[in-house]
Amino acid sequence: METTLRGVGVSHGVAIGEVRHMGTAVLEPPAKQIATEDAEREQGRARKAVEAVAADLIARGNLAGGEAQAVLEAQAMMAQDPELMADVDRRVAVGSTAERAVYDAFAAYRELLAGAGEYLAGRVADLDDVRNRIVARLLGVPMPGVPDSDHPYVLVARDLAPADTALLDPTLVLGFVTEEGGPTSHSAILARALGVPAVVALPGAGELAEGTVIAVDGSTGDIFVNPSDEKKAQLEAAAAERKAALAASTGPGATADGHKVPLLANVGGPADVPAAVEAGAEGVGLFRTEFLFLDDSKNAPSEEKQVDAYRQVLEAFPEGRVVVRVLDAGADKPLDFLTPADEPNPALGVRGLRTLLDHPEVLRTQLTALAKASEGLPVYLEVMAPMVADRADAKAFADACRASGLQAKFGAMVEIPSAALRARSVLQEVEFLSLGTNDLAQYTFAADRQVGAVSRLQDPWQPALLDLVALSAEAAKAEGKSCGVCGEAASDPLLACVLTGLGVTSLSMGAASIPYVRGTLAKYTLAQCERAAAAARAAESAEGARNAAQAVLSGE
Ligand code: PEP
Ligand code: MG
Repeated sequence: METTLRGVGVSHGVAIGEVRHMGTAVLEPPAKQIATEDAEREQGRARKAVEAVAADLIARGNLAGGEAQAVLEAQAMMAQDPELMADVDRRVAVGSTAERAVYDAFAAYRELLAGAGEYLAGRVADLDDVRNRIVARLLGVPMPGVPDSDHPYVLVARDLAPADTALLDPTLVLGFVTEEGGPTSHSAILARALGVPAVVALPGAGELAEGTVIAVDGSTGDIFVNPSDEKKAQLEAAAAERKAALAASTGPGATADGHKVPLLANVGGPADVPAAVEAGAEGVGLFRTEFLFLDDSKNAPSEEKQVDAYRQVLEAFPEGRVVVRVLDAGADKPLDFLTPADEPNPALGVRGLRTLLDHPEVLRTQLTALAKASEGLPVYLEVMAPMVADRADAKAFADACRASGLQAKFGAMVEIPSAALRARSVLQEVEFLSLGTNDLAQYTFAADRQVGAVSRLQDPWQPALLDLVALSAEAAKAEGKSCGVCGEAASDPLLACVLTGLGVTSLSMGAASIPYVRGTLAKYTLAQCERAAAAARAAESAEGARNAAQAVLSGE
């Protein structure tokens, strides 16, 4: 029977497909004692699970081929190691359940490997993965990590961390549904980057049964469970209609009366560039360089690797503007070699620019790599720092940029309310501002952007957030400098008009949102956008602000 659930739509479009759950970390099975007469049955269960996992690894290896096949086959061999199996049998014989015996036997083997030289120690992660797979199978819970599926699916997860999502195959993921997260969580950002529909903050998402067919409407936030054929056809037709209307919008971003608002793309690396170019991005407004650091949380990428990635992005926008954000590590993007492990409140701790000022060598390498990457390219390079709190922060960043000899404009992100409140003072040190409305909302409302329960306060339509945007844009205007928005607020077409009315000079967003924003902005004059902005700021709530802006723009 068809049922409807409602979450928060964060990435437009419709996805229809089967549910696959993102497996969570495998929990330690309880150390329960079993009766002697059950030992044989438990040993049989363990053997069956091991065989099934090994067969699955081999089958996936055959499909993948190449290097991946060798790794998966080696994992299958680990699973079936006779010594390990004998240890599992022994543990069951003295009273362990199958899952506990597997868990403990692997732990013993793991210790051996970890102390047996660099090569074998490097196999520990593979061994853990094999153990997790066998234990998950025995417990009847989803396999940990990204689902193993050869068919496209809708990914359902509690939330998605950047490290998880780096492993996703974008050709298989039709859409996302998450239980946690808000409009600015990483699941939402990633969904927009991939251009797949997404709904977040859906209570009970974890209870959707694996394999159930759902239709996700990323525009309205509706999830139709077991949709009828009629519903599917209706949703697909509406999505196709929206897409066709968008395809008609091209060219640079501007209001109906020609006030230019460059529409730029948010990218995480070279892989996101083709979609940005295809969407007609006029450049990059936010290059989140931390994605280059996520492959290996223990070491920074080499200067050469960075030069290569930066150059690929810079080359894609000849004569365009590319704004590179230096590493934003910490809080929801921790890196082992930089982020303190014992912070009681990481979002309020050493993150962003604070981390880089503590590790100037990391910042130096990034700036040097950028200087080398941009050499001889006809691109307008701009570099900005995340999490600038005050003028001293802005000065420290600008000094580091100058010392590196980099030819670029230096800017500050406004993500902390103090920077918005004293924007003119920050602008004494840097040449532009870029509003990171995701963190700005998080810190203005004391509402963690990863927590679904407070997503109401992450709504970028909150009038208090609009006030801080207005303060920053007015300060930049007074100083004759630019002030863009690169947070997710820019990707909401109606809000993009309001931001323009508040005086923001460019909008940067996931590539998939650009046509929607371009099309909507082109419908209204600057004066209408200004009236909508004033009406939104006069409201008392996010919903009130949205309704007020809508009423002005639709001429009600
Ligand atoms: C922001 O905070 O708005 C922003 C653009 O940075 P990130 O989402 O990467 O923290
Ligand atoms: Mg931020």
